[in-house]
Amino acid sequence: MTVVVIGGGVAGLTVTHDLARSGVRVVLLEASDRLGGLLRRGTVAGVDIDLGAESFATRTDAVPRLIADAALPLDLVTPEPGGAALVVEDASAPDGVARGPLPRRTVLGIPADPLASDVVALIGADAATRAARERELPAFDAASAFEPPLYDLVAARLGPVIADRLVDTLCRSIYSRSAHDARLSDLHPGLWRALCATGWLTDAAAQLAAQAPAGSAVGGIAGGMWQLPITLGRAAQQHGAVIRTGVAAQRISGDSHATSGDDDALVVETADGPLPARRVVVATGARGAAALRPGLRADGGAGSVADTVRVVAAAIDRPDLTALPVGSGVIVDPAVRSGAKALTQTTAKWAWTRAATPAGRHLVRLSARDAGDGGLDTPTAIAREVTLLTGVPIAPGDVVDIAVQEWTDAVAAAPVPNAVRADAARGIHHTGAAVAGTGLASVIPHARALAARLAGELAVPSAHPTRSHA
Ligand SMILES: Cc1cc2nc3c(=O)[nH]c(=O)nc-3n(C[C@H](O)[C@H](O)[C@H](O)COP(=O)(O)OP(=O)(O)OC[C@H]3O[C@@H](n4cnc5c(N)ncnc54)[C@H](O)[C@@H]3O)c2cc1C
Repeated sequence: MTVVVIGGGVAGLTVTHDLARSGVRVVLLEASDRLGGLLRRGTVAGVDIDLGAESFATRTDAVPRLIADAALPLDLVTPEPGGAALVVEDASAPDGVARGPLPRRTVLGIPADPLASDVVALIGADAATRAARERELPAFDAASAFEPPLYDLVAARLGPVIADRLVDTLCRSIYSRSAHDARLSDLHPGLWRALCATGWLTDAAAQLAAQAPAGSAVGGIAGGMWQLPITLGRAAQQHGAVIRTGVAAQRISGDSHATSGDDDALVVETADGPLPARRVVVATGARGAAALRPGLRADGGAGSVADTVRVVAAAIDRPDLTALPVGSGVIVDPAVRSGAKALTQTTAKWAWTRAATPAGRHLVRLSARDAGDGGLDTPTAIAREVTLLTGVPIAPGDVVDIAVQEWTDAVAAAPVPNAVRADAARGIHHTGAAVAGTGLASVIPHARALAARLAGELAVPSAHPTRSHA
């Protein structure tokens, strides 16, 4: 009764752990030589940091609950107060940009109150007044219209400045997707439901902002998120899971209909030989899944540079870098002439990194806008970007170490739903960001729900049935 899980990122490891703990025999295949997928350790100036996900959203309790359930030896932490900032185009400013804190009552860049001072500071009074006039429009009626792309939806109701500077900027930063190509119902189902219920984007944002739990929107793990997959893999092995790194699944053949009762009717082909399976779980990235299951992605899984994300981490010797108005980091408006779409001030955000770094040295992480060109990988480029985004002049000589990570399968492109359903009917199940959406707060609950379902389907009949007293 083997389940073969393909992909050793957080999703595959979560399924593997939960199945093994339920007594199901499970083998995990990971193509690379290490577990973790988009969670990965890097070292900059001797300090271990995250080169992939560096936090988790606290809108679900998925990460704390998994850590508690699996008894992982990890300490949860919250970021330092200060929050993030936005840098937007401002032709009237000497350096062409305006910097300001991310407005407080906004959801995905949509403000609950367009006339709030933190919104006006970023978009100007005219655009704020235009957005406040949403009230004069008829209520949005989801039933009467085909859902437009998020950008069009926001531009039509709140005006193009909010759509460009706030919504598209955050959409690209959080989801690595343009608001022109995304639908609100996919990206943020809760906000979409609130819009359908209230009829106004500003009311929907107000509703969600009011429901937002007190405290930080993100949490972290002391020492880095990269430890999560490693400790989870160990826990899964303690429950009997077999984990094989350096083994790529090449093909899945056969058919194990959930009701057929055929044991091991599916076969996962690998370079080390075939693996029979009763169920297969595909927990690769979107491109990896499309390579295994052609038809899953509308573009056939060809992928493009748009699926690629490049992270450049650097150590900078500059004592005054923390005394800045940009808090834990900066999200950058695409209209700003910058090579980065976001900057994290790692040592300002996470106390554990500051404790590990000598005084006067700061660790930063830039997400490149054009992941393919490597234009951010040099001290000169890093100094230029950090100067633009923080307002503090940095010289190339201040940059004392650099670590670069390119992620080639990092963007969750929505798969074709019929293909996912057809696979499930054959005993091939999909999980991970490719189907659950980006981020651990979405990926982990999806993986755990799948594991619970499969454990139920594959439950071993008890060798000593209990006597019924009914
Ligand atoms: C730079 C960056 C920053 C991020 N920051 C955050 C953040 O702060 N908070 C947050 O919640 N999320 C963040 N995310 C998103 C988050 O990391 C992902 O949503 C999540 O880690 C996806 O996990 P996964 O298991 O679905 O996929 P992955 O982590 O992509 O794992 C898939 C695994 O499958 C393996 N694989 C692929 N094909 C095969 C094959 N044929 N056979 C065997 N193995 C295969 C791959 O090698 C990989 O290890 C970030 C992502 C990136 C890239």
